[in-house]
Amino acid sequence: MPGFEWFGDEERREVGEVLETGVLFRYGFDAARKGRWKAKTFEAEFAQRVGSSHCHLVSSGTASLYVALSACGIGAGDHVIISPFTFVATFEAILGVGAVPVFADMDETLCLSPAAVRAAVTERTRAVVPVHMCGSMARIEDLKNLCDEKSLTLVEDTCQAVGGSYKGRALGTFGRMGCFSFDAVKTITCGEGGAVITDDILVSQRADQYADHGHDHIGSDRGADGHPVLGTNFRISELNAAVGLAQLRKLDRILEAQRANKKALKDALGAFRDVAFRQIPDPEGDSATFLCFFMPGEEEARQCAKELAKAGLEGVSYWYDNNWHYLRRWEHLKNLASAAKLPQHLYDHVPDYNALDLSRSDSIMGRTVCIQVKIGWSPKDLEDRVKIIRSVFGN
Ligand SMILES: *Cc1c(COP(=O)(O)O)cnc(C)c1O
Repeated sequence: MPGFEWFGDEERREVGEVLETGVLFRYGFDAARKGRWKAKTFEAEFAQRVGSSHCHLVSSGTASLYVALSACGIGAGDHVIISPFTFVATFEAILGVGAVPVFADMDETLCLSPAAVRAAVTERTRAVVPVHMCGSMARIEDLKNLCDEKSLTLVEDTCQAVGGSYKGRALGTFGRMGCFSFDAVKTITCGEGGAVITDDILVSQRADQYADHGHDHIGSDRGADGHPVLGTNFRISELNAAVGLAQLRKLDRILEAQRANKKALKDALGAFRDVAFRQIPDPEGDSATFLCFFMPGEEEARQCAKELAKAGLEGVSYWYDNNWHYLRRWEHLKNLASAAKLPQHLYDHVPDYNALDLSRSDSIMGRTVCIQVKIGWSPKDLEDRVKIIRSVFGN
């Protein structure tokens, strides 16, 4: 999956241009920077590519979630519905803006179930943050309709699915805001970086302000900026943006390689009766970073992941036992007050995350195995991996 596999002269050239001027800051220094605006150029090209009116680059995907929630006015005491299968950053950001993560079950898409979200909505619910996990999409149209019906804010965590789409429309453009990560292991990388996109000019301005101490960035004199909102520093540097710009221009080739390699692995696996594939609402829009499939039961899935890895297949994940991506192992969330080193009474209104009934998610996750799709595999590498799959399943 990761863009770092194709890191080369293009990235070095972009970074070199920044180092030549010495202007590492994304704002100002107009004369010294000789017309080189890496963050601004990335934003314009990315917005154009996904078909969104505005893009703002930030320092990480986590920062993009903070920025999006803040810009959409989600804050103290608001309930935000998410899936138990994501990366810890999703609930960190919700807690970080003072809101409360509320979990609803996922379905066989490995993303939020719209029916489970509907059942979880209460009068305190303000937002839904679906995560397009492992490169493929949630049932985003249904989730958007539900949010419209209930007047909830939809923010998409698209950190793992840049380049993905649903019925021809880019993931990240269905919500009021879409969030992206360009960290070191994502489909394209800035080293560290992230972005928010939106069609709403007001929300876009707030995002821009919040990510830079509330400065309104009106006029060229930073000292004279007004501060319409309380902000923080989630700025990206020009160096990181320069790396990302080179990577963005490779995105089509990356997606093409991912899709071809995923297809080869999927064709091999599809021959075996025990294997059922993850549901993908629009297979054409799959960014294809992972191949995820279901085994008949938990023990078979755990065993299968173990055997594939032992036979030499890299990037095999059994997420049910993983403590980054599935709620079962998030002990810091389950013991929030002690993990945050804050008094318990601050968390009295927060659900007891030890007592959730997410049995449907548990049963799906327990059967799920994912294989990371690499882009740098030669035809021989791919053939070797197909052989490994056949050897493990053929027994
Ligand atoms: C990677 C990731 C993030 C956070 O991105 P960073 O750039 O690492 O902060 C958030 N959500 C999901 C689903 C991710 O995979």
